[in-house]
Amino acid sequence: MENCIFCKIISGEIPSTTIYEDNDFKVILDVSPATEGHALILPKKHYKDLDELDKSCGEKLLTIASNVGKALMDTFGYEGYNIVQNNGLAAGQTVFHFHMHVIGRKTGGESILTWTPHNQEQEKREELGAKLKETLTK
Ligand code: 5GP
Ligand code: ZN
Repeated sequence: MENCIFCKIISGEIPSTTIYEDNDFKVILDVSPATEGHALILPKKHYKDLDELDKSCGEKLLTIASNVGKALMDTFGYEGYNIVQNNGLAAGQTVFHFHMHVIGRKTGGESILTWTPHNQEQEKREELGAKLKETLTK
């Protein structure tokens, strides 16, 4: 894919700090990390986002995510890790080649994922749920 920065990283045209590679995936360190232990899992094939991703690679993707998360904990003493995966501009996606963030976390560390929990009536939730269920079962 022309002009895709991650395709260029995968081909080696743009250098990266690679921590894992196999036939289907490359795992690199993020150039602007949220914490020092911030890795990106990139499928070698160009998929724009999760909707395009070939779902048959899902099991392998999750296994790599778990292995990278454990490696971050074992190597740097992280106590947990976040998996972040943005789809679409509105959701904060900035590189339109599917990728999964694996971010090491320590207790009391800087907060990286925050949202304001809003109050919601059960009735509203039922209404929203019914609409979504209809869409999902279409
Ligand atoms: P997104 O916001 O699309 O979910 O995440 C894109 C991520 O890619 C960002 O965290 C950003 O720092 C990282 N990134 C962008 N360009 C490069 C690059 O050239 N090299 C590396 N290693 N990471 C990059
Ligand atoms: Zn690409």
